Amino acid sequence: MVDLQAQLEPIKSDVLNRFETILEEASFINGGAVAQFQKELETYLGVKHVIPCANGTDALQIAMMGLGLKPGDEVITADFTFAATVEVIALLGLTPVLVDVYEDDFTINVEAVRAAITSKTKAIVPVHLFGQCANMDELMELSKEHDLLVIEDNAQAIGAKYHSRTGARPMAGTIGHVGATSFFPSKNLGAYGDGGALFTNDDDLAHTLRGIVNHGMYQRYHHDVVGVNSRLDSLQAAVLSAKLPHLDDYNHRRKNAARAYNKALSKTPFVSLPVTVTDCGGICESCTCHVFHQYTLKISGGHRDALAAHLAEKQIPHGVYYPIPLHKQKAYSDQRYREEDFSVTNQISDEVLSLPMHTELTDEQIDYITTTIHQFLSNRG
Ligand SMILES: *Cc1c(COP(=O)(O)O)cnc(C)c1O
Repeated sequence: MVDLQAQLEPIKSDVLNRFETILEEASFINGGAVAQFQKELETYLGVKHVIPCANGTDALQIAMMGLGLKPGDEVITADFTFAATVEVIALLGLTPVLVDVYEDDFTINVEAVRAAITSKTKAIVPVHLFGQCANMDELMELSKEHDLLVIEDNAQAIGAKYHSRTGARPMAGTIGHVGATSFFPSKNLGAYGDGGALFTNDDDLAHTLRGIVNHGMYQRYHHDVVGVNSRLDSLQAAVLSAKLPHLDDYNHRRKNAARAYNKALSKTPFVSLPVTVTDCGGICESCTCHVFHQYTLKISGGHRDALAAHLAEKQIPHGVYYPIPLHKQKAYSDQRYREEDFSVTNQISDEVLSLPMHTELTDEQIDYITTTIHQFLSNRG
């Protein structure tokens, strides 16, 4: 699904030089490399504070701790996302409230959020799923109306620029009260191990978060709040510093691959192409609100699993993200949920199919993959 070896080649000597410095300094934890990456990412995102941490799941959890969410508080998030998003809500004793998503771009349905708001609702966690920004204009409006906090799960969309109807183009993850991201190796900005970060423009919240990631310490051995141990290590920060200057190019290459896939599959029966929520109706040069963490098709007619089996036979990597809606998972099922409120997630979990998506895809690979898909589905059409 991703080709990390080929991506390493152009940055290999830079990464090794940075590693050498860290090894010589033995500055493995909280070293200069972490502080440097933090500054670079703040500049790139145009956000006042980046708080590095150990992984994206921690980032979400720390965001909720820092915002002071308490057991019994309801947190609304999407039924169609990676489990980490809902896991941390449950882990903190908060009440997850799952809602349906849009069938075209798979992001959280704002009307479903509105319908789920109660007097106990404290926060919304939109997920910029597969690299596509959620409907932040309307979500921020809704949050103001009901005095709710917005935590962006930006694990899949770093580098995306949201197309606000005001004409502004803020970076994904910097629009809500706090953003959380992951540097898992296969993410758009991936380390060579685990890593994560929080983003916020709120000085007080940033201060609180910096203490929480470090055992609740604001002064050495003074523990003011209950914290966690969640650190980005220097070696991972060095990898991220080496890659950050290439991130826009990486995302551009993903977009080009997506355009090539779209073009080749536009007349294939049973295939719905991914939608970007801009005016062009396809993927144009100015589309920046989707950075294609995944390239995900919908395959109708009940042919998804047969196509997946065929791709496996042809040794073409593919994935089903995600095969089971969260409200149907044992850990997150809840008596309050009604199946009719999840018509989209129930349908798309049977239809989605993600194709290889990374920065090193060649025209030949895309041609082979799309020809295989087109032939298979045309024979069923
Ligand atoms: C990857 C991911 C996470 C978790 O990130 P980790 O670094 O693996 O903990 C959270 N949310 C979403 C949507 C993700 O894709």
